Amino acid sequence: MENKVLLIYTGGTIGMKENPDTLLLEPFDFTQILQEVPELRKFGFEVDTISFDPLIDSSDVRPEFWVSLAEIIRDRYDDYLGFVILHGTDTMAYSASALSFMLENLEKPVILTGSQLPIGMLRTDGKENLIDSLELAAARDPEGHPYVCEVCIYFETALFRGNRTTKYSAENFSAFRSPNYPHLAEVGTHIRYNNQALYRPEKWGKPLLLHTRLDTSVAVVRVFPGLSEKYLHSVLSSEGLRAVVLETYGSGNAPSHPWFLSALSEFTSRGGLVLNITQCPTGSVDMGTYATGDSLRRAGVVCGGDMTTEAAIAKLFVLLGQYSDNKTVGIKLEIGVSGEIS
Ligand code: ASP
Repeated sequence: MENKVLLIYTGGTIGMKENPDTLLLEPFDFTQILQEVPELRKFGFEVDTISFDPLIDSSDVRPEFWVSLAEIIRDRYDDYLGFVILHGTDTMAYSASALSFMLENLEKPVILTGSQLPIGMLRTDGKENLIDSLELAAARDPEGHPYVCEVCIYFETALFRGNRTTKYSAENFSAFRSPNYPHLAEVGTHIRYNNQALYRPEKWGKPLLLHTRLDTSVAVVRVFPGLSEKYLHSVLSSEGLRAVVLETYGSGNAPSHPWFLSALSEFTSRGGLVLNITQCPTGSVDMGTYATGDSLRRAGVVCGGDMTTEAAIAKLFVLLGQYSDNKTVGIKLEIGVSGEIS
């Protein structure tokens, strides 16, 4: 392995510029990023670059895009110290979650970053995010192992576990939060790694395994006062639907109306999966606390603990792609697969 990091540019604000005719931000040619950040040539390691074609606004991310990213990493895994992915912020937490489940036995850093202001702007946050991410991706501990062996998001001085992260602000430079898991590292005058929070492989040298069959037969239902029977019924009777992420109140509570519970029971008794996660940004589902939570358990609903919506969706895509039998998926949903659940 050579002393180099692979920088994968997919699009997003970080590499955008204003179209003078429409005044809208549009992706520009990646070579211009190197012009904007000459510092890239000053590292003690090399930076190779790959650019997606076409570049995308991350609102257009689809599961096939995750497969392409995972394959790029797999194909070049042995050649690089680590990988930095420049990605739009809008769906960055979804992509980071998906990659965390798709890349099993990962032992190298895969760091997604982006920016709130294009890299060509004077006040951009893109330069620091990019430079810091590259440094984190190349860093090695005194034994020569990477400090970071997982899929992360780096933004505004903090390194987050990717599948614990959610986009929090549409305008602040500090755009991401990891409400239920500590930062993996803080970047100031020094880089401070949080060794308690960072994942370490039990044994080094396991081969990287890729899970690229994703099954997207998933719906998300957010409960709200006034959720109608008709709406729930139309979602649950969608053709081919295998799983529903149910975003509930507080510690996993939902309406106790008989029609609501029987709609869920009917779906789970047909083999459908209902994964209970909370609408609260912090804290966890606990279906043993309140009678309403307990009724969900009796309706066959599975506990998603403190998983983010992004992680819940991505985990389902990967597990449903791996197992045709929903029972096995249901068991795995309640167990941490990639550090996504406390
Ligand atoms: N719409 C952009 C994207 O997600 C926003 C950003 O990059 O921050 O691609």
